[in-house]
Amino acid sequence: MNLLIMGLPGAGKGTQAEMIVQNYGVKHVSTGDMFREAIKNETEMGKLAKGFIDKGELVPDDVTRGVVMERLSKEDIKKNGVLMDGYPRNIDQAIATDEMFAELGLNLDAVINIEVDPSILVDRISGRFICCTCGATYHKLNKLPKVEGVCDICGGHEFYQRDDDKPETVETRIKINEELSTPILEHYRKLGLVKDINGMGGIDDIKSSVKAVLDNL
Ligand code: ADP
Ligand code: AMP
Repeated sequence: MNLLIMGLPGAGKGTQAEMIVQNYGVKHVSTGDMFREAIKNETEMGKLAKGFIDKGELVPDDVTRGVVMERLSKEDIKKNGVLMDGYPRNIDQAIATDEMFAELGLNLDAVINIEVDPSILVDRISGRFICCTCGATYHKLNKLPKVEGVCDICGGHEFYQRDDDKPETVETRIKINEELSTPILEHYRKLGLVKDINGMGGIDDIKSSVKAVLDNL
């Protein structure tokens, strides 16, 4: 199964991706996670990406396409399927996605679109914190680890908040993503691939909605 997951920053893509990966065994390919890893490792690509990410802007398309193509070309994707999160983010990237999938013989099964009222995004993003070891996502009000200070997934004890989750950057990120996502969704709607999910409920309700869609594919 090969999927895209879409939604504004903070809509809950990463949170739902954890469930999808656990239940369906697909590989989670998040461009944001790959950039953060490259920044942590201080690679040349990471240094370049950081300049854009810190301002809430998009990393240039040619850089991002290279990163995605390299990851999608690995054998595990063909074997297990993929869940793309954070890519594509503009119509050129959507066309690049279609080209890369065609080149690699991957068939896109669905685009999961998590719809939320943008007014809730700042609260979701400002409460977000992440496990340093495995990247699992939590929220200081909505989703605390079951045992305080211990990651549910890997048992890690250290957590961080993303640098680009500060209010000034968040506004820019939401605005850019709102404008650019409409043509992407139109493109995939024409192909009959978009599955709209109401992202305004609790995490478990949304998981059930996503699962119902995927079980029906
Ligand atoms: P995205 O990957 O779309 O940027 P995340 O999955 O990281 O979004 O979610 C953003 C924040 O909101 C996280 O702190 C997460 O724990 C929390 N969150 C996710 N889904 C919900 C929800 N349905 N209700 C409340 N909080 C949520
Ligand atoms: P995310 O983790 O998806 O919220 O992404 C964090 C940041 O990484 C974004 O604000 C962008 O600066 C950058 N980024 C992630 N994915 C892409 C993409 N597909 N194209 C360009 N920039 C991206």
